Amino acid sequence: MATSNVRVVLRIRPFIPSEIDDRSNGTPESCVTVVDNDEFNTLDGGEVTVQIKDRLSSRKECYKLDSIYNQENDLLPIFQQEVTKIIPEIFQGSNGTVFTYGATGSGKTYTMQGTDEHPGLIALALSSIFSTSKIAGGSVEISYYEVYLDRCYDLLEPKAKEIMVLEDKDGIIQFKGLSKISVGSMEEFDQIFSCGVQRREVAQTGLNDVSSRSHGILSIFVSTKIKSTDALVTGKLNLIDLAGYEENRRTYNEVIRLQESAKINQSLFALSNVIYALNNNEVRVPYRESKLTRILQDSLGGPNQSLLIACLNPVSYSEAIHTVGLAARSR
Ligand code: ADP
Ligand code: MG
Repeated sequence: MATSNVRVVLRIRPFIPSEIDDRSNGTPESCVTVVDNDEFNTLDGGEVTVQIKDRLSSRKECYKLDSIYNQENDLLPIFQQEVTKIIPEIFQGSNGTVFTYGATGSGKTYTMQGTDEHPGLIALALSSIFSTSKIAGGSVEISYYEVYLDRCYDLLEPKAKEIMVLEDKDGIIQFKGLSKISVGSMEEFDQIFSCGVQRREVAQTGLNDVSSRSHGILSIFVSTKIKSTDALVTGKLNLIDLAGYEENRRTYNEVIRLQESAKINQSLFALSNVIYALNNNEVRVPYRESKLTRILQDSLGGPNQSLLIACLNPVSYSEAIHTVGLAARSR
């Protein structure tokens, strides 16, 4: 089996207006700086070293990652340099995954969903998939679901229906009753997906900022026929907006919050362990440590290409230490 390759990159979002207004003493300073960027070699073992510095205590830590995308609004660079490598593979029948990982407010959803002005990775990936699929005479379908407290909910169903995840005797993961909707154009996709996004936001009413307490998984399936044999080849691209890591819920420390935090941290840690095992060619890959990694068992590893984007808010030293620390230890 070909060696799996999970690239781990850093994306630092720009300061947002509220962070700039809050500062009376001049230009905001990012807590992250690049100290060494071996970019000539990024495709083959190249890496970047970043330093994270606490402005108050002057404490510093250095970490190594595969690449860095620093304070851009625009998502094209990360799309062109990272995601475009994965897309052709799914037309050959493999599965690809892109994750956004980081604390709440670090730009995970922005990176995936973007804005009208700056399309996110979802829109960029889909338009590329649509054009390739048109040429190849293929078809495109989507599923969109969330994993919340280790349960899966179909976001393309009116009431965010819970779905069961089963593993068949060959170890293949099956989602019982998960909707798969055929999409023919960007407009059609936008309509279906935006309903799903709203469901993700209101699924558990009464909770604050629920959307960032679940993992949102959009799977784009592409099917094409191989001309010579007429055989159907299906691959998929998972675009995953991971739940936001938070050290402790400061304001809501009720039981449900603690349960949420524990599950989120456990699943993110499990994901990091799986990526580490794959990147270091370990014999045993611990997919079973969490629901999230079990679901992704058919997409992480083997010939499948993946990308972990660690998202950072440039203001927070403690968040940066945590996010970059976990990302760096996955390599
Ligand atoms: P998360 O999903 O990680 O909680 P968001 O994606 O909601 O974070 O981003 C937090 C805030 O930062 C939002 O107001 C968003 O518009 C802004 N933001 C994030 N990334 C960027 C970016 N690259 N350029 C401009 N604004 C951004
Ligand atoms: Mg979000």
